[in-house]
Amino acid sequence: VTAILSEADIGAWDEAVDVLIAGGGCAGACAALGAAAEGAEVMLLERGMEIGGTSALSGGVIYCGGGTAVQRACGFEDSVDAMRGYLIASTGCGPDVAKVDRYCEDSVGHFNWLVGLGVPFKDSYWPYNYEPTTDDCLYYSGSEFSPPYCDLARPAPRGHTVQAWGSCKGGGKLMSVLAPHVARAAKLVTEARIRALIRASDGRIVGATFLRDDKTYAVRARAGLVVATGGFVMNREMIGRYAPQALPLKMLGNPYDDGSGILLGAAAGAATINMGAVMYPCPILSPSGLIRGILMNAKGQRFVDESSNHKRIGESSVLAQGGKIYLLVDSQIYEDPAMGLPIVASGETARELEDELGWTPGSIGATLDLYNRYAREGRDPLFGKGREHLVPLDHPPYAVFDCSVEATGVYLTMTLGGLMTRVTGEVMTPEGEVLPGLYAAGRATSCLSAQSCGSSGLQVGEGTFFGRLAGQAAARAGAA
Ligand SMILES: Cc1cc2nc3c(=O)[nH]c(=O)nc-3n(C[C@H](O)[C@H](O)[C@H](O)COP(=O)(O)OP(=O)(O)OC[C@H]3O[C@@H](n4cnc5c(N)ncnc54)[C@H](O)[C@@H]3O)c2cc1C
Repeated sequence: VTAILSEADIGAWDEAVDVLIAGGGCAGACAALGAAAEGAEVMLLERGMEIGGTSALSGGVIYCGGGTAVQRACGFEDSVDAMRGYLIASTGCGPDVAKVDRYCEDSVGHFNWLVGLGVPFKDSYWPYNYEPTTDDCLYYSGSEFSPPYCDLARPAPRGHTVQAWGSCKGGGKLMSVLAPHVARAAKLVTEARIRALIRASDGRIVGATFLRDDKTYAVRARAGLVVATGGFVMNREMIGRYAPQALPLKMLGNPYDDGSGILLGAAAGAATINMGAVMYPCPILSPSGLIRGILMNAKGQRFVDESSNHKRIGESSVLAQGGKIYLLVDSQIYEDPAMGLPIVASGETARELEDELGWTPGSIGATLDLYNRYAREGRDPLFGKGREHLVPLDHPPYAVFDCSVEATGVYLTMTLGGLMTRVTGEVMTPEGEVLPGLYAAGRATSCLSAQSCGSSGLQVGEGTFFGRLAGQAAARAGAA
């Protein structure tokens, strides 16, 4: 898969197009539309039997803001600055400022573009911090209300869910709407697996070979080649090398998320970045009444705002607490967790819980006392938990659920690192030069989401947005 061939070794081209796209998920589909809109002749190679990829398995949540029609219809004010402030603060220690800026400035336009293609969004608000299980649209899909973000940027709901009834159905709908557009915009070749990039003597990427029905074909890409083959969560060897902390977690993606495009780009001399960054979704606080409980580490201390997004909770758990965390509830807020978490202690007092768990006497007691003292005032000075989730836990008996990675099996993961690109999708070398002829978008790249506590909807958001830009840029390079 890591092959790079030289143009001189290609006897004859089987086909020639302006823009060649590898991968038909949301990024590849939008790259095809972007390139075709510039008048380019486009071919899209898809390894599966149809386009869709992980995008079609997704919830179809798209992070848009700055005043979309749905935000306005639901009565929420938002601005480019607020969206930008939140994304700069929440997308990792080295946010790609140029990409964040462009994404926020054009977010309303991008949303309108999707609507123009026929992607449906309902004018409705979903008042929970997890993805709609109905056909509703707009929700707080990140941790906008949690410190430090709420102090840095005015919160607004920006998760726009493609309208489709049920849980995690929006991605399938999105891709089914995009598919006929792609079929008109590009020559689509399915069950076609890109195997090697072809480099000219001047270093430019000028095409690729692909395997179909045991036969290898060579396609010339006159203007550019866009890698949109998705992430690498299914490649255990790569996960072990770059993100070993994710090895015990459940892989979330499609079987072809094996990093092939990232490896091909790297073989051609591309830089990769944020390869250790992965998502840690862990929907443990469900039903949402459990958010009123206290999450503790194995020392009986709080470590996170329980009302923040479950990806942020998962990240704090895996990276800072060794994946060992616990939920304390009292009889007033007790509900059976949807994820079937095991109870590891119960008792009338904190001391009984500490004894049962073998924890330091006074540890849970101190946490509970401090939490209750401020919860009575409707405040959480330590972690800033939302007021509506704050009740004193003073109705014994108490129970402690084990929410650890090992005990639950509900921690999921997908990769966020990949090829280093410019805003235009041009792939960069480690020296910061453009690798001529090569473009990339979507999960094959590192883009806006460089850490888990970013928001749901950024991945399909950036895939569709920067995919389109990459297709446009490749086509324009050919026309220049
Ligand atoms: C259950 C689930 C729910 C999710 N929900 C959301 C959500 O609501 N919002 C959000 O923003 N993100 C969500 N995500 C993440 C999001 O779906 C992905 O990050 C995003 O769709 C990636 O888009 P992509 O176009 O880069 O890759 P993909 O959609 O995976 O597309 C890549 C395509 O490339 C093809 N391919 C791979 N290798 C080759 C090759 N060598 N040659 C040719 N073709 C190849 C694949 O078959 C695939 O079709 C979710 C993920 C999962 C698994």
